[in-house]
Amino acid sequence: MSEVIHAPELAHEDAGEPKRISHWIGGQVVAGTSGRRGPVYNPATGEQTGAVDFATAEEIDAAVQTAKAAFPSWRALSLSRRAELMFRIRELVHTHREDIARFLTLEHGKVLSDALGEVTRGLEVVEHACGIPTLLQGRYSEQVSTGIDVYSIRQPLGVCAGITPFNFPAMVPMWMWAPALACGNTFVLKPSEKDPSASMYVAELLQEAGLPDGVFNVVHGDKVAVDAILEHPDVAGVSFVGSTPIARYIYETGAKHGKRVQALGGAKNHMVVLPDADVDMAADAAVGAAYGSAGERCMAVSVVVAVGDIGDRLVAAIEERLPKLKIGSGLDPASEMGPLVTREHRDKVASYIEGGREQGATVVADGRELDVDGDGFFLGVSLLDNVTPEMDAYRDEIFGPVLSVVRAETYDEAVRLANENPYGNGVAIFTRDGGAARRFQFEIDAGMVGINVPIPVPVAYYSFGGWKSSLFGDSHIYGPEGINFYTRGKVVTSRWPDPATSTVDLGFPQTR
Ligand code: NAD
Repeated sequence: MSEVIHAPELAHEDAGEPKRISHWIGGQVVAGTSGRRGPVYNPATGEQTGAVDFATAEEIDAAVQTAKAAFPSWRALSLSRRAELMFRIRELVHTHREDIARFLTLEHGKVLSDALGEVTRGLEVVEHACGIPTLLQGRYSEQVSTGIDVYSIRQPLGVCAGITPFNFPAMVPMWMWAPALACGNTFVLKPSEKDPSASMYVAELLQEAGLPDGVFNVVHGDKVAVDAILEHPDVAGVSFVGSTPIARYIYETGAKHGKRVQALGGAKNHMVVLPDADVDMAADAAVGAAYGSAGERCMAVSVVVAVGDIGDRLVAAIEERLPKLKIGSGLDPASEMGPLVTREHRDKVASYIEGGREQGATVVADGRELDVDGDGFFLGVSLLDNVTPEMDAYRDEIFGPVLSVVRAETYDEAVRLANENPYGNGVAIFTRDGGAARRFQFEIDAGMVGINVPIPVPVAYYSFGGWKSSLFGDSHIYGPEGINFYTRGKVVTSRWPDPATSTVDLGFPQTR
């Protein structure tokens, strides 16, 4: 195993020996001591390119203590200085967006253009955080009682932690650290062990921008590291994005240990297509939203609900588009879809195709027929028609390039189906009927709704989050709810009386 090296040197396509990826604590790379490591792959070649250290509870404690020590001076920094720093961070990340995208492609597998899109959407949250002086404005009421004023302020929580999934290794951490730092918290990030290098690179950029050492730390690992974060008495808030079973665990365990927790989970996003929809537009949207990033998006459309007589035409239009999709290495500019993140995940996703057939679905396109040279974790696009709610392909979040089509007789049946689903992340309706769309927006049980928009990820000045089993906790992430999550309110009742009017009064304070 080679020595610990800086993140930007990590991922070369032609890397020979796996590079070791260690923690970032107090502004420097810190080698892990547990002796436990996880493999990092280039999914396009199947080659192991990295080995990431898994932190012990003691190493988590070291990161938290470092963040705790950095907190008093960081929170005391003036809002204008903090905003200035956020602007500098924004500029540096923007300047290096292609380097970050390259890390994403090399470890996650998504195509470069999609990786760049991820960084851009993450940057929008950093840009929002640049407005922190305005975002933290409180309220002020003068003369609530004679000579008494009341005002509210929002203050940071302290040390906050973020635990993030493999599918957006740059954007989802930005959803967390940008508002958390801007609000005056210090931060410990535990990125996915599958694609950890982007976080190390970003840590160096934050340092280069002038962020004081210790304000932002990165620790790697598995359940041992996560549990140490959840149980640590000096961690005040935990943000999590990942699968539903782990999100539920994070929420319950974090709350039990007295932390504020927001835990975003998995999804099964339905796209309802009404009979009056434009078939070509709906098919284009379904293909993009189902197979983009190989279906490894929490906002991917995984179920199309075709209402009434549009079903056959819609399935034919989707099928017609599939052979034209270019699948290959994410570094190849011609590729539109890359490999899946690991071999195990690819095989699990592929099992739903056979499972669907066995359970009665019509396999219109079978991604297993794709032939790509080499040992990359590729799987072609699959389309299952006549899927019913009892089938595993419908019930499970497959998280891969497998699109299910469910036929529904009526609008009501389509809405019932989506509302009975345990997840409630994103949902979309395609129609030319404004009344139907408005009714849908009113009736649907999901946190993010698209009207003729297949992936309705809110812009940075709104908040992102689902309902039901797609989110545990009260707070959606980033936007106004993100600012609330990373701060707590304080209300000050203040009296600067004229000494000439002062008297002793033993009565309960009243507004008069
Ligand atoms: P995951 O739940 O397996 O892992 C997420 C994080 O939790 C990782 O950092 C991982 O190391 C950690 N973790 C894994 N197992 C753990 C355990 N037993 N105990 C403690 N921590 C553990 O998720 P993933 O496979 O990395 O990401 C894909 C999932 O994330 C999908 O379900 C997807 O829908 C979801 N996701 C949701 C959103 C959203 O906004 N709702 C966004 C992106 C991804």
